[in-house]
Amino acid sequence: MRILVVEDEHKIANSIKRGLEQELFAVDVAYDGEEGYDLASSEDYDLIVLDLMLPKLDGVAICKKLRKEGVHVPILILTAKGQINDKVEGLDAGADDYLTKPFSFEELLARIRALIRRPHKAQNLELRIDNLQLNTTTYEVKRAGKIISLSNKEYSLLEYLMRHPNQILTKDQIITHVWNYEADILPNTVEVYIGYLRNKIGKDLINTRRGFGYKICSKKQE
Ligand code: CA
Repeated sequence: MRILVVEDEHKIANSIKRGLEQELFAVDVAYDGEEGYDLASSEDYDLIVLDLMLPKLDGVAICKKLRKEGVHVPILILTAKGQINDKVEGLDAGADDYLTKPFSFEELLARIRALIRRPHKAQNLELRIDNLQLNTTTYEVKRAGKIISLSNKEYSLLEYLMRHPNQILTKDQIITHVWNYEADILPNTVEVYIGYLRNKIGKDLINTRRGFGYKICSKKQE
């Protein structure tokens, strides 16, 4: 899952980035409104954390522009304490939720998780394909009840595949949602990581559609 943080206060932006990376999100940071808008409209994010008071282009303007262009990514706005009008304006502009500064990282994380989950009807924290289970709060992955130890990227890749079961995902889509902008990943890297995953979870669940990409699916449905 990939997140864009648009925040001009470097300290806050960087601490959010560090925290989210520890929770295995891929994170890009933009330090002004224009850069934030450019990234948000050109890259495919799973969520945007958007400060309202920004140089060059403010958060409300970014929000309005994105919604007008049909970008439906969940947006969580950050407001300074007491700026009630800002919150209302932000929500009116199409943001999904807001958080007042200062906030605890735990609260930010809880709201991010709730927003990312929202489109998926199941409030289920556990993703499952046959006897493969992935718990998105404990990061525990099990196959037939046996715990499988994955690296951070292997986990993120598996989570992304399992959130889109029975759906072919292209290498580009996978790169976009599992790695951040700086990572500069080549399509071959995806192949390599798919190989690592197959070695750990078993070779039967992830199918290759040559020339298209990969999909994870239940053997029962094949
Ligand atoms: Ca600011």
